[in-house]
Amino acid sequence: MQENVFVALGSNLEAPREQLRQAVAAIAALDGVVLRAASSHYGSAPVGYDDQPDFVNAAVRIATTLSPRALLTALQAIEQAQGRERSFRNAPRTLDLDIVLFGDRVQGDPELTLPHPRAHERAFVLLPLQELSPDLQIPGQGPVAALAARCAEQRIARLD
Ligand code: ATP
Ligand code: CA
Ligand code: CA
Repeated sequence: MQENVFVALGSNLEAPREQLRQAVAAIAALDGVVLRAASSHYGSAPVGYDDQPDFVNAAVRIATTLSPRALLTALQAIEQAQGRERSFRNAPRTLDLDIVLFGDRVQGDPELTLPHPRAHERAFVLLPLQELSPDLQIPGQGPVAALAARCAEQRIARLD
């Protein structure tokens, strides 16, 4: 069972906080997955395409017997069940689930790159991760706390 698997969640359409709550429940209910911890919700500015609502982001830590690819397939099914549409890059979405880390696994496969190739430069991924695991290291990038400190100019706030 791989213990240190982190999934980043994001939503900016159709009641984002409810989307995240539903997604966490769906992840916890997957065969071969045990939910270990869920972060607070964070409100963040959109990245890459400005003309859309702010995002709500969070992260979960899970333990899983699934392979990385099987986990990705299961997460994509949850996105689909919650109405995810893929229109254009960085478009608004009801739900986005990215595998940030799968233990120490490092792989460059474009279908599933680990660690997630942009996680280390995104406050909306790093702050929830840091909340769950303050001493976490992102393989090839460094300590999550130092990476988060480098993103200080990105607009983000922890929500109640
Ligand atoms: P970004 O990857 O910059 O966060 P996005 O989440 O909006 O953008 P998507 O359209 O959700 O991008 O995903 C595009 C593809 O990324 C997926 O089809 C998937 O195969 C691939 N992918 C590669 N690495 C990962 C990963 N670590 N987690 C989730 N998807 C990944
Ligand atoms: Ca994403
Ligand atoms: Ca994604």
